[in-house]
Amino acid sequence: DLTVALARAESLIALTPDYPEPGVLFRDISPLLVDAAALEAVTTGLIQPFRGAFDVVAGIEARGFLLAGAIAIAAGVGTLPIRKAGKLPNPAASIEYHLEYGSAVIEAPGVLEPGARVLLVDDVLATGGTLAASRQIIAELGGDVAGAAVVLELEELGGRRHAGAVHSLFRTGG
Ligand code: AMP
Repeated sequence: DLTVALARAESLIALTPDYPEPGVLFRDISPLLVDAAALEAVTTGLIQPFRGAFDVVAGIEARGFLLAGAIAIAAGVGTLPIRKAGKLPNPAASIEYHLEYGSAVIEAPGVLEPGARVLLVDDVLATGGTLAASRQIIAELGGDVAGAAVVLELEELGGRRHAGAVHSLFRTGG
């Protein structure tokens, strides 16, 4: 049963205080990814609201790549990597966005068909900056964002305000 499998998957997320900097509680989905039943449940749960509504799944570097690969096969679609700056020889789109401290740049290759319906996927929604920038990247590439899905939403950070509609499998106030 999917609800039971998802509850078990959620329990596998590992918490590390003060990583990568003091005051941040890091959520690591690695123990979930390595578990076949948990990976399958999360893959199924992430796609559920979007069945038949997307042509490509875009994963956000790096843990989003792993989810996107699994989703692509499960849904019968292709996958697009959204990269951190400096990894692509010929990025077709590049977006700079603000982080809590400083800024970041994400880039993507120019491989989308015009009008392709793209599902965005990542592990954790925090402030929402990465997802908001990813929406812009897809628009710049000529695609249509069909939706966004994350494993875990850190509700207390209010990321949804910046990121727009997001399907989150798990939510936490802490
Ligand atoms: P944001 O742009 O603030 O929503 O940050 C989202 C990105 O940072 C995602 O790609 C996450 O992988 C990562 N991230 C932010 N906060 C955490 C956290 N507490 N634990 C794990 N990953 C995080």
